[in-house]
Amino acid sequence: MSKNTKLPLPSHIHALGVPYQVELVDVIDEVTDDMEPTWGDTTNISRRIRVAAFLDTRRRWSTLWHETLHATLYTIGAQLSDDVEEMIVQSIEHATEQFMREHGASYLKALDTEKD
Ligand SMILES: [Zn+2]
Repeated sequence: MSKNTKLPLPSHIHALGVPYQVELVDVIDEVTDDMEPTWGDTTNISRRIRVAAFLDTRRRWSTLWHETLHATLYTIGAQLSDDVEEMIVQSIEHATEQFMREHGASYLKALDTEKD
């Protein structure tokens, strides 16, 4: 894993307009079910997203996007079990990554076009 820090994370993101502060932290005191260190977490009350600094650039950004999706589900008031929410977030995260890899440049260009 290379520690490419050429693309630093933003200081904040918006989840459907709601600002969340983004922090890069050394340790998140929580482990996942499979005892792996946690890559990121979101605290909705204080509108804060934390991303683990040990991750490389690619994983930092994918984790930030993952946590942004959690924040977005909170913002719309989705009432989901933890398991279902995680499944939805992971699915959208991976679908977005695949779509952006294949069509991201065109998609961003299309957003900037005037009505045809
Ligand atoms: Zn998650």
